[in-house]
Amino acid sequence: MDLPRNLHDCYFFYYSTCKKGTSCEYRHEPAALGHEKTCKMWAEGKCYNRTCTMRHMKIQSPRSATPCFWEDQPGGCRKPHCVFQHKNARPNQPTTSNVGVPVQPAPAPMPPRLPI
Ligand SMILES: [Zn+2]
Ligand SMILES: [Zn+2]
Ligand SMILES: [Zn+2]
Repeated sequence: MDLPRNLHDCYFFYYSTCKKGTSCEYRHEPAALGHEKTCKMWAEGKCYNRTCTMRHMKIQSPRSATPCFWEDQPGGCRKPHCVFQHKNARPNQPTTSNVGVPVQPAPAPMPPRLPI
């Protein structure tokens, strides 16, 4: 691929915020922001269209379709709300992320109404 840098999508522009703004040497194309398809021509190094609405980067698969790296590690995944894909359903354990939040007592169950 010998395309100039301004024909490759800026990772930061598409996935977070590019602090370089207009001085960034990589491509910032708002029209391509919502697209999830990689430009085939770009993949072949042939797309010279700076305003191409297809993406000029390899698209990351959605995180929910990406297997969780930590699940296979010793200790497993400890993220309470892991967005990555898990092979095994995780038990709904109470997490430490609630520390500091006042725990409200569960409301007492209403007594059953007696028929009059
Ligand atoms: Zn950029
Ligand atoms: Zn293109
Ligand atoms: Zn996980």
